[in-house]
Amino acid sequence: MSPVSPEIRRVRHPLKMRELTVKRLAHVSPRLLRVTLTGDLADFVSASFDDHVKLFLPAEGESRPSLPTVTEQGIAFDPSRPRPASRDYTPRRYDRAANELDIEFVLHGEGPAASWARNARVGDLLGVGGPRGSSILPDGLDWNLLLGDETALPAIARRLEEATPGECIIAIIEVEDGEAVLDIPTAAQASVTWLRRDAGTGGLPDAVSDLILPEGHGFAWAAGEYASIRQVRQRLIEVHGLDRQRIRASSYWKQGEVASHETLSD
Ligand SMILES: Cc1cc2nc3c(=O)[nH]c(=O)nc-3n(C[C@H](O)[C@H](O)[C@H](O)COP(=O)(O)OP(=O)(O)OC[C@H]3O[C@@H](n4cnc5c(N)ncnc54)[C@H](O)[C@@H]3O)c2cc1C
Repeated sequence: MSPVSPEIRRVRHPLKMRELTVKRLAHVSPRLLRVTLTGDLADFVSASFDDHVKLFLPAEGESRPSLPTVTEQGIAFDPSRPRPASRDYTPRRYDRAANELDIEFVLHGEGPAASWARNARVGDLLGVGGPRGSSILPDGLDWNLLLGDETALPAIARRLEEATPGECIIAIIEVEDGEAVLDIPTAAQASVTWLRRDAGTGGLPDAVSDLILPEGHGFAWAAGEYASIRQVRQRLIEVHGLDRQRIRASSYWKQGEVASHETLSD
């Protein structure tokens, strides 16, 4: 067992707003669309798999997003234009050499971000702010548990792809059906379980209750729909006795609410 601090390390990055152009579109699965963006990306930094950028979407009938400017007092919007809708997304892949940034959108239905992605064409413009900072997981973990739904899949897939050889990662991902199941390359010693809603398997909270966690110092990361992730966090604490410091649980969306983002705590 390695003596590791359970603390997450927070790193700040200079905040920058960018207007990026759609270079490529590709379906990762029928409900998950990868949008490859290009443009002023040379100094883009994303230090952790669960970073997020703020997407600024062009208003109805406009082709360019209204990007805020960064001032010493914070960010300021152009008062002469309608304030743009903004949503949080994971920088799924940044390739400095190719000058590309991938964002993967769940095509869940209606909403400024999902609707923009569904209608996106090569050459379209999108505003991207951040990441403002990164939360880095402790080093030397004996295991890392990753739990999430489709909105967390970009972060989970990035974590698996970036893992160093031999890391122990246990991932449980809840998706709609078999078409959403992906083959994710990883150097980790990984156990990846897919929970398919169409197969009637229980959701994430039940899967957490049934888990047998390895020995040693671990860290649990969970993201997805508010109610599900709240229960996931409770069960990690109540069923597995996990220390709250060893859990990072985030609500990435909330049924019936727009642009919901919350880090869950007691
Ligand atoms: C840190 C962070 C990182 C995220 N990364 C990603 C990512 O990489 N890819 C990704 O697809 N999402 C990601 N999300 C989730 C995404 O920001 C939300 O799903 C967001 O609400 C989508 O915006 P929208 O404009 O499409 O819908 P909104 O206008 O926000 O919502 C409209 C309606 O749709 C519902 N809704 C929203 N999202 C979903 C959903 N996924 N399934 C079903 N109903 C939904 C809402 O409850 C609401 O009723 C992330 C969220 C956070 C906080």
